[in-house]
Formats: sequence, C-alpha cells, structure tokens
Amino acid sequence: MKSLRSDLATTVSALPPLPDIHRYARTANHRRHYHRLRHWPPGLIAIGDAVCVFNPVYAQGMTVAALEALALRNLLRHRHRRNFTTRFQHHQARLTAWPWLLATIGDTGWHTEQPAITTRLAQWYLNRWRHHIPHDPTMFRHFAQLTNMLSGPTILFRPRHLARILLTGPGSD
Ligand SMILES: Cc1cc2nc3c(=O)[nH]c(=O)nc-3n(C[C@H](O)[C@H](O)[C@H](O)COP(=O)(O)OP(=O)(O)OC[C@H]3O[C@@H](n4cnc5c(N)ncnc54)[C@H](O)[C@@H]3O)c2cc1C
Repeated sequence: MKSLRSDLATTVSALPPLPDIHRYARTANHRRHYHRLRHWPPGLIAIGDAVCVFNPVYAQGMTVAALEALALRNLLRHRHRRNFTTRFQHHQARLTAWPWLLATIGDTGWHTEQPAITTRLAQWYLNRWRHHIPHDPTMFRHFAQLTNMLSGPTILFRPRHLARILLTGPGSD
C-alpha cells in the first residue's frame, strides 16, 4: 500500500483488524459438465458453485452465480418451458466458459508440467496485458471491466490493444 500514490497505507495502519484471521485452503477450480448429460432429470436445476467453483482469489463466484440467477429468471420469464432445465444447463455452460478460462489460465502458472500451446499463447497474451496495465489507463479500465464481468473477452482484442501488445515491448509507455 505504501507503494501506491494514495493515503491508503496511513489510513489502514491506524485501524485495528476486525475479526481473527481464518485460513481458507480450498483454492481448486471445479467445473461440472452437467449440460453434457444425455438424461438430465426434469425439474432439477444445478446452479452457482454446484456447477462451477472458482479459486476465490479471482473473486468471480458471486458475480457468476448472480448472472446465472438472472439467466434463470429470463428463461422463466420467456416461458421457455420445453426442455427447460436442459436449456438452462446449456446456457449456464456458455456463461461460465470465459470466467472459467480466466481462472484456470491464471492457475496454470502453478503447474509443473508444460501446458498446451493454446494455454501458453493465452498466458503470453495475458502476461503482456499485465505488463502494460500500470502504464496505460485505458488498458487498466478495460481489463477491470473484463475481470468484473462488465464486458466480454473481445475487449482484450481491440485493434488498439493488439497493436500495443504486438508492436511495443512489455511495459513500455
Ligand atoms: C474465501 C472465499 C472468498 C470469496 N471471495 C469472493 C469474492 O470476492 N467475490 C466473488 O464474487 N465471489 C467470491 N467467492 C465465491 C462465492 O462466495 C461463491 O461463488 C458464491 O457464494 C456461490 O454461491 P452459491 O449460492 O452457489 O453457494 P453458497 O453461497 O455456498 O450457498 C449455498 C448455500 O446452501 C446451503 N446448504 C448447503 N448444503 C445444504 C443442504 N444440504 N441443505 C440446505 N442448505 C444447504 C449452505 O449453507 C449455503 O448457505 C469467495 C469464496 C470463498 C470461499
């Protein structure tokens, strides 16, 4: 906090910590492909962490669960009753795809084995983004929009950002 250009460190250092610190060690990402089941029981819905759990460090779980709840509401509102539960599980699979990729690509950095070429490419691209973010307010804003799920992944591939990442060195202004 001291390294930030703000008074945050001074403010926080004067505050007593509230509760005791508790350790949480279940950081694994889990995604269950219920939508691929041929026979899904009618009337049953799986939603939220029951389908897709993210490493809490990425802070996505509540947002994704809320988006899933909205999708459920919309489906109910439009009275798509035929194969309703199966349709919802498919919809949810699409909804979780990108947050899942973001979380799991980040965590492949901890793997000891060599990741697939597509994963390495994605890691390279995201790492270049992270190098540029401190120097480029637009890139910071767009990355924050993506991680807060206010924008889709296409925001990372706008021509301006592609040019910056491919034509300039990491972290150069
Ligand atoms: C340490 C930590 C930090 C996190 N930080 C963030 C964050 O910053 N931002 C973010 O978006 N997400 C965060 N998450 C993820 C987020 O909390 C979850 O993704 C979200 O709460 C999932 O909602 P849910 O309704 O699916 O499950 P839950 O919130 O777990 O709700 C399930 C409920 O079902 C109840 N239940 C369980 N079994 C039964 C049973 N047999 N009968 C009746 N009730 C039952 C449970 O008591 C619970 O109330 C964090 C998670 C953890 C663990």
